[in-house]
Amino acid sequence: AISWRCCDATSCRAAGAAALRQRLVAQHGVERVKSVGCLRLCGQGPLAAADHEDGRVELFGGVAAERQLDPEHPFFTLQRSVVLERCGLVDPGCLDDALAQGAYTALAACRQLAPKAVVEELERSGLRGRGGAGYPTGRKWQLVAAQPGSSKVVVCNADEGDPGAFMDRAVLEGDPHRLLEGMAIAAHAVGASEGFIYVRAEYPLAIERLRRAIAAAETRGVLAGFAIQLRIGAGAYVCGEETALLHSIEGGRGTPRPRPPYPAVSGLWGLPTLINNVETFAAVPAILRQGGAWYGAMGTATSKGTKVFALSGAITHTGLIEVEMGTSLRTIVETMGGGVPANPNGSLGVVKAVQTGGPSGGCVPAALLDTPVDYESLQALGSIMGSGGMVVIDESLAMPELARYFMGFCAAESCGKCLPCRAGTVQLEQLLDRFVERRATGADLVQLEQLCGMVKATSLCGLGQSAPNPVLSTLRFFRAEYEAAIAGAA
Ligand code: SF4
Repeated sequence: AISWRCCDATSCRAAGAAALRQRLVAQHGVERVKSVGCLRLCGQGPLAAADHEDGRVELFGGVAAERQLDPEHPFFTLQRSVVLERCGLVDPGCLDDALAQGAYTALAACRQLAPKAVVEELERSGLRGRGGAGYPTGRKWQLVAAQPGSSKVVVCNADEGDPGAFMDRAVLEGDPHRLLEGMAIAAHAVGASEGFIYVRAEYPLAIERLRRAIAAAETRGVLAGFAIQLRIGAGAYVCGEETALLHSIEGGRGTPRPRPPYPAVSGLWGLPTLINNVETFAAVPAILRQGGAWYGAMGTATSKGTKVFALSGAITHTGLIEVEMGTSLRTIVETMGGGVPANPNGSLGVVKAVQTGGPSGGCVPAALLDTPVDYESLQALGSIMGSGGMVVIDESLAMPELARYFMGFCAAESCGKCLPCRAGTVQLEQLLDRFVERRATGADLVQLEQLCGMVKATSLCGLGQSAPNPVLSTLRFFRAEYEAAIAGAA
């Protein structure tokens, strides 16, 4: 090999990336070993890629690079890299490397365009918010751009907190300049001169890399007048909700407030504020470089482009994938992910369901694996696209137990501001306990459904409104498991 790329992201670090790197440096010399971000197949880490003169790439896993992996596996070949195009190739700590690989070229080109033209290009792309709600990004930018006044703010939501989600972490750790470029383009488009990135404290490596990237970009003047500050969260999941996040940046307690007014009209310190998440901003440079029509040609009629997913749970190939919208769950889980690993006794593992969207999402049963992954199709099944966590569930997990896990999560993370969520999630968790412990009654099942409807309809913010989703979706497709828990009690 002429050079090596060594993954230096959180999951490979945990698996021994430092030792692998040391070994490669000792064998090949420090100038031939480069640290990069996520190489995708996280479950086989630590990972290293060997680049040969003839363009051939070999991939290895293990501290002694003892496992040769197959870069021609569908896990890799079916990916379509847009957001992750430089992740795993670029040294996240080196601005020169990023520049050599095309960072900030889209920003430079945008600066030659009228802000309106940038917004129009984004509208043409059909990009929708990747944080979960799927609001059209171009429309949001247009709203902020149309607000009067000269003080506007761009905020990046990097408070990725869903269990099983690590897409944004990979971008922050693997290609931080991409986010800065996306935010700077947004600032030009909406007329903002100040930006904030709100990152969760649980991502220390991402914070370190962002700090370095911001300092390097400012020193070299590539952001030209757009100042970005970091704000570190304090462990509250609810701060991923945009109004809570803004309160937290302002120095207040992270609690949501009713909307409207939407942040686009009155956000941070009452200023018009554009909020998008990491993946949304990270898609922007490629869209502006290659055109909205290019991006819009990927995906389905209403869900354009690509989406990054964190694939985990009972699956052979755990890791990070970026696929075109509309790819079926079956392709992702069975072809790319390799399905459920075989049992210790050698019998084949069986997919029971795929959980998407974390605590706000739901479970798609194995029988519906041909569902295309897009906003509408998942919603029609009572789940959501969410931010991109995708957890595969096998036969060993009972659905009431899964529902209880997520309800417990929401009860613990509820900010307590409104009664339906504060008390309702606790009551729902207690009810679910009865099903898990098989001491439920028929009346419990009736109450479970009623309470879910009430919490959903009357909670103030998305956390409470969506907390019942894992229960409702498992009730819809796996009702027999709840009924069996009643029979078990009889
Ligand atoms: Fe807080 Fe829950 Fe009400 Fe949201 S729904 S404001 S998290 S108590």
